[in-house]
Amino acid sequence: MELELPSPPKVGMVSLGCPKALVDSERILTKLRSDGYQLSPDYDQADVVLVNTCGFLDSAKEESLAAIGEAIAENGRVIVTGCMGKEADVIREKFPDVLAVTGPHQYEEVVGAVHVAAPMPPSAYLNLVPEAGLKLTPRHYSYLKISEGCNHRCSFCIIPSLRGDLVSRRPDAILREAEKLVAAGTKELLVISQDTSAYGVDLRHGAWPWKGGEVRAHMTDLAGELGKLGAWVRLHYVYPYPHVDLVIPLLAEGLVLPYLDIPFQHAAPSVLRAMKRPANEAKVLERIRAWREICPDIAIRSSFVVGFPGETEADFDYLMQWLAEARLDRVGAFRFEPVKGAAANSLPGAVPEEVKEERYARLMDLTARISAEKLRATIGRTIDVIVDLVDEEGGATGRSKADAPEIDGEVHLRDAPHVAQGDIVRVLIEDADEHDLYGLPAAL
Ligand code: SF4
Repeated sequence: MELELPSPPKVGMVSLGCPKALVDSERILTKLRSDGYQLSPDYDQADVVLVNTCGFLDSAKEESLAAIGEAIAENGRVIVTGCMGKEADVIREKFPDVLAVTGPHQYEEVVGAVHVAAPMPPSAYLNLVPEAGLKLTPRHYSYLKISEGCNHRCSFCIIPSLRGDLVSRRPDAILREAEKLVAAGTKELLVISQDTSAYGVDLRHGAWPWKGGEVRAHMTDLAGELGKLGAWVRLHYVYPYPHVDLVIPLLAEGLVLPYLDIPFQHAAPSVLRAMKRPANEAKVLERIRAWREICPDIAIRSSFVVGFPGETEADFDYLMQWLAEARLDRVGAFRFEPVKGAAANSLPGAVPEEVKEERYARLMDLTARISAEKLRATIGRTIDVIVDLVDEEGGATGRSKADAPEIDGEVHLRDAPHVAQGDIVRVLIEDADEHDLYGLPAAL
């Protein structure tokens, strides 16, 4: 049976006011795009309409109220934000049907209100951000989307038909957004796109003015500049094109976290060919070895699909052998499911469900054992941990540099009554299991 993907909700935006408000609107839309929402150019198709208002002068207030009135009349599901949000009573009195009113620069609240008004249907196939991250991400980490769409045509994927070819954002716009996020308290920037290594290809890797110099629309340059902002920078969805080698020194220098999320999906050449995967080449194991020489702490996360049409027992054994050699730090796996509209659905050699299950269990077992061994080697070390959550009993939960939120492991802290969400603390690791570490704040 083919899996039909839900279509993401559409958001309309009316932006009034000064350039600052426009930047806010852009930022809200960028966040909503990275959460998977689509934008609607008109009232009719929008599931919810955002009106970013201006309340500086009376005439601007009039214009804002008129815009809210029009959105209510044309669509009916309206969220108001911006300067006039300070006068929520006035707005509510005139338009009692408004769904939510938030003030200027309360960008997290607006995004939260959109999630409530038009919830995103959960789908691991569509969302770059893990499901739990779709809730309002806490202020101490933020997803930073650098491009939209994809130039590849992997046979199991329908993203390019939904979102089109790669369109990269300008590097200066990304950096400005990142600077704002850091100024607002973000301690960790999670760089996402469908294909981070391809960033800037559509812009011909051109350069834009930045801080008295220039920044090129290229993954290495962008990562280097992001690294100067003083927050952790984590790179997701990096395909192992040759130029990825150039980013490894940045990881080794500490400008970017020693972490790469590379969705390999498989290792057997025939399966990769059938999947039409980008950067599909035989020397990946050698390159991983070379990366580890340059940056010994590098944590590599990846995901794999088992039971892809045509995957033979020999292909699967190849993958298991490859995984045993690659010793990746974090691994996620999926059993192949045909997604409606994907080319892979018509490939011959469907793998029976029970075989998929059995392969999945074997793969998870192997990778859990590797993970447990690697984490055990951390016991006795003191590492940096970013705190995600504190509890009332003096404990806390955080993540090491090797753990992205929601998808990787956690570090559980005991005796940590003084730590707060977003703190980066030194932690002495006392214990480990298959996926998580346990420790306590190290004495300073
Ligand atoms: S690289 Fe492949 S899997 Fe990823 S979005 Fe592009 S087509 Fe889909």
